[in-house]
Amino acid sequence: MNSEKKISPSLNQPHVDSFPTPPFEKQKQPFPGLANKMIPVPDHGETTYKGSSRLKGRKALITGGDSGIGRAVAIAFAREGADVAINYLPQEESDAQEVVKLLSEEGHKIIALPGDIRTEIFCKTLVEEAAEKLGGLDLLVNNAGRQQFCDSIKDLTTEAFDATFKTNVYALFWITKAALHYLPRGSSIINTSSVQAFLPSDNLLDYSQTKASIVAFTKSLAKQLGPEGIRVNAVAPGPYWTALQISGGQPQEKIEKFGEQAPLGRPGQPAEIAALYVAFASPESSYSSGQVWCSDGGTGTV
Ligand code: NAD
Ligand code: MG
Repeated sequence: MNSEKKISPSLNQPHVDSFPTPPFEKQKQPFPGLANKMIPVPDHGETTYKGSSRLKGRKALITGGDSGIGRAVAIAFAREGADVAINYLPQEESDAQEVVKLLSEEGHKIIALPGDIRTEIFCKTLVEEAAEKLGGLDLLVNNAGRQQFCDSIKDLTTEAFDATFKTNVYALFWITKAALHYLPRGSSIINTSSVQAFLPSDNLLDYSQTKASIVAFTKSLAKQLGPEGIRVNAVAPGPYWTALQISGGQPQEKIEKFGEQAPLGRPGQPAEIAALYVAFASPESSYSSGQVWCSDGGTGTV
């Protein structure tokens, strides 16, 4: 193999070699973590994502839209012409305000709806408020997630197990159910699963189950909602450089080498996955439903 890197001179946008590679500094934040305190700060496409009106006039609710993959999707959807509402935890207000400032200064409609999605009552209120403030809803991105590593089932408490399932599984059910009241034909629901659904790590026993559950939920619901003209798909990320990982998602020794095992030799940056959500959201993909699209730097897991 030719080890000398020759990048096409016609590539005038970020590409495989444009992003940070390990080793990374060890860094630990309390859950849920802030993107703005990470070293390096994740790239959500703030300075790079260019839209082309693929989602003009659409109305999107994105959970976990303050940081990481959700922030990258919020930026991409807004620059594709959608009005966007983001949900996040109150502790993440500073990350959320960065998104609000960026997108509102560009002239996009961006609504911040903080709150904890681990209760059905809040999930219902969230969807109602989003639909009311956006004037409707036709895109739903279920992206919020909880990942806290635990080496042994013997140490995994019922409280931790429950919090992971409430955030990753129950909230998805509650939010989607509430959203169906508003979603017209042509709507698109996009869930965030993980490669953990297919290749579960030993220390992510609860998390990996929730991500497998999201795959089954996606495929089952796609069958239910096909006759209603609503598509349901999922994106399954591999290692992405986000606050989830440095706030209990991985042990510190894994942070240093994060993404090293991927064939591309590095983790993905949130900016690199937003286009998959745009593709599923866009009516250009009108015959794709019940699909899981993996993005993990080349292992070919799914
Ligand atoms: P992130 O920490 O930036 O985003 C996760 C978000 O979930 C948080 O910003 C937070 O707003 C939200 N959240 C968590 N608990 C919540 C609660 N109780 N109420 C409301 N919001 C809550 O990290 P990310 O990596 O961008 O995560 C986005 C999604 O991607 C998650 O579903 C995660 O499981 C999935 N994922 C991430 C990776 C990765 O390597 N980063 C890999 C596979 C899947
Ligand atoms: Mg966050």
